[in-house]
Amino acid sequence: MPFGTCPSCGGHNLRSSKIRGPAERLQSLIGILPFRCRQCGARFSTLLWDLASWKYARCPNCLSTELGSWSEHYYNAPLSVRMLVGLGAHRYRCELCRQNFASFRACKERFSWKKRRAAAQNAATGRDQPDKPQP
Ligand SMILES: [Zn+2]
Ligand SMILES: [Zn+2]
Repeated sequence: MPFGTCPSCGGHNLRSSKIRGPAERLQSLIGILPFRCRQCGARFSTLLWDLASWKYARCPNCLSTELGSWSEHYYNAPLSVRMLVGLGAHRYRCELCRQNFASFRACKERFSWKKRRAAAQNAATGRDQPDKPQP
């Protein structure tokens, strides 16, 4: 089964799911995270390390490939992320779930608010409001 595919219906419309119970908490520590399929609702765990085999950068939270970027002025990145950036990784920000991260992978699709606004005209005024990630 290729990563990013629902084992139940083969769909690609996945989102990360909340960690439930100590077993999943333990799994998450080694990079196995629960996902849920938006198509059929199946819930399953998968090894997030497979992300590294992806060709393009993806949001680690919602798996979106449509990414913007963040600035050090607004985002107090954790040391691990700053180290990656120091090594030449790209700064990526998922505007959909406000996840900031760093990746060496290329961006498949640049996020643009214009594009989003066109898709959802009645969206709130999309001023980029950086927020610190929850600990
Ligand atoms: Zn499914
Ligand atoms: Zn995201």
